[in-house]
Amino acid sequence: MARRQEQESARSEVTEVADGVLRMELPIRMPGLGHVNCYAILDANGAAVVDPGLPGPGTWRALQDRLKQAGLAPRNVHTVIVTHSHPDHFGGAGRFAKEFGSKVVAHHSFGFGVLTPAAAPEVSVDDLAAENSVADAANEPREGVPPSTDERDLDAFEQLRAITTGITPWGGERPKPPWRTKLKWRVMRWLGSSVIPTISHPVDHGDVLELAGREWFVVHTPGHTGDHFCLHDPESGIFLAGDHVLPSITPHISGISSSPDPLSSFFFSLDRVAEMTGVGQVLPAHGHPFDDLASRCHAIKRHHHERLDEVRVISRELGPTTVAAFSERLFKKRSWGAMAESETYAHLEHLRLAKEAESYRDDAGKLIYVVG
Ligand SMILES: [Zn+2]
Ligand SMILES: [Zn+2]
Repeated sequence: MARRQEQESARSEVTEVADGVLRMELPIRMPGLGHVNCYAILDANGAAVVDPGLPGPGTWRALQDRLKQAGLAPRNVHTVIVTHSHPDHFGGAGRFAKEFGSKVVAHHSFGFGVLTPAAAPEVSVDDLAAENSVADAANEPREGVPPSTDERDLDAFEQLRAITTGITPWGGERPKPPWRTKLKWRVMRWLGSSVIPTISHPVDHGDVLELAGREWFVVHTPGHTGDHFCLHDPESGIFLAGDHVLPSITPHISGISSSPDPLSSFFFSLDRVAEMTGVGQVLPAHGHPFDDLASRCHAIKRHHHERLDEVRVISRELGPTTVAAFSERLFKKRSWGAMAESETYAHLEHLRLAKEAESYRDDAGKLIYVVG
């Protein structure tokens, strides 16, 4: 399988993807992803930036390099827009606010995703498995290489998530990072409190942001996280999609969510944007710009409906069983673990809330599901 476009390394050149909108690729080495796109919307006062990468000095340096190419200094960034509360999207926001007084715009419910204890919350387990098979084919060493600055930045966030380790809602174990120590936890608490941005301008669905002399509509798109939103400028047809709709991978839908049924939320949000008129160019947070938003939404929905069908078949074959047992049938062994269980749990809860499945706890406290 070829490497997906979302896995490509960040290029240092800045590209003008639409009139007055620049794409700046920032390096990240998160599972399944090679870069995050930070977009700059230019106006007479400077720029608004959307999703300024991971926290930490490596990303900050890369972002300053890209801004400089565009003739901008960090003090010219008057607004930072954060599409959702994942660290590769809000990273630089707090620093812009603190050092340069930038406004920070995010959904009013911003924050839950920061503490979501999934080990790798960005891309689906299927896409991670695809990435691993590419790495195996290329025989790339994936261990024993000193981490880059960005990887160290990310480790810190994994530790923040580890603070909430314990038992999952379905009775499984949360991921336990091997390097977890009390000292690192203390560092993390300090780092966590300093890099999670304070939102100066909370927004909600239907709000309008005036940027670059144009009106950008806030489109709330819960699913990948509860606080995810996209921005649409109907006049130019530009749609800033964040992680809601990516060109070739499926975003991770975690069962541990602020929503009781994150998959339903995601379906609702896919329909919401698929039905929109006046969308020409889609600018995703990972991968290249694309233009057929509706068909990409339909393809992602189809993927989840196929997964729901697989869950129904597994239930018929296994009878009442645990989330882990469902997960081990849905995914190959190399993907087993908390993240696969979390996606499985999201699908099982979706069926339960649609009254298509029932659940109860066994003597060991594990949730048992029966579908149909
Ligand atoms: Zn995300
Ligand atoms: Zn992302």
